[in-house]
Amino acid sequence: MTANKPFIIAIDGPAASGKGTLARRLAEHYNFALLDTGALYRAVGWNVIRAGGDPENESDALKGTKILSEVNLNNPELRTEPIGAAASKVASMPAVRRTLVDFQRHFAHNPPTDKDGTILDGRDIGTVICPDAQVKIFITAEVETRAKRRFIEEYSEDGTAKEYSRILEDLKVRDERDMNRAASPLKKAENAHLINTTNSDIEAVFEAAVKFVSSKM
Ligand code: C5P
Repeated sequence: MTANKPFIIAIDGPAASGKGTLARRLAEHYNFALLDTGALYRAVGWNVIRAGGDPENESDALKGTKILSEVNLNNPELRTEPIGAAASKVASMPAVRRTLVDFQRHFAHNPPTDKDGTILDGRDIGTVICPDAQVKIFITAEVETRAKRRFIEEYSEDGTAKEYSRILEDLKVRDERDMNRAASPLKKAENAHLINTTNSDIEAVFEAAVKFVSSKM
């Protein structure tokens, strides 16, 4: 862990796989700075929708990148599935992705002095943004399990079967778009450690990840 080469953890995986929760827990445990890169794409999607634009239109999407610094990345409205869908649309455009690369790489390689490393979670961190990361984790779960998690997040106990079905469909569409786009598709880096969370709770996933990360330090 020298000043020149910080320790980087790259976490990738599909929507609602649990990567955000795992990344937060690991960042706390190791005192690492954390960047949720999905929030950047969500902020672009949010900007486009707020401006009445079309997230599938490249010129609207690029306008959305220009006012990124005005968005509070912690705004809970960014977390909803319609904004996730808009994010996935703008994220399929190479021109949009290019505007975000430098920011993500700079974050990864320049942790604040009071932090001992960096964690980035997203879709292309281990493959494109930080191919040199010392630790790469690919986290996944069956789509039905992920839909149930997102459903509980959005509706607590009050949701209906119709709302669950809509979330499941939305996630399937988003998976398909994220995995099959030409620009930086979601895929496991060859040397990434695979964690399947379908049948595991966050504690078990966290413990498995800590064991793996600590073995690389
Ligand atoms: O991870 P999250 O669900 O917040 O990401 C929202 C969308 O942003 C994803 O569906 C994906 O299309 C896009 N994304 C991406 N590359 C990243 C992070 C997110 O393409 N590194």
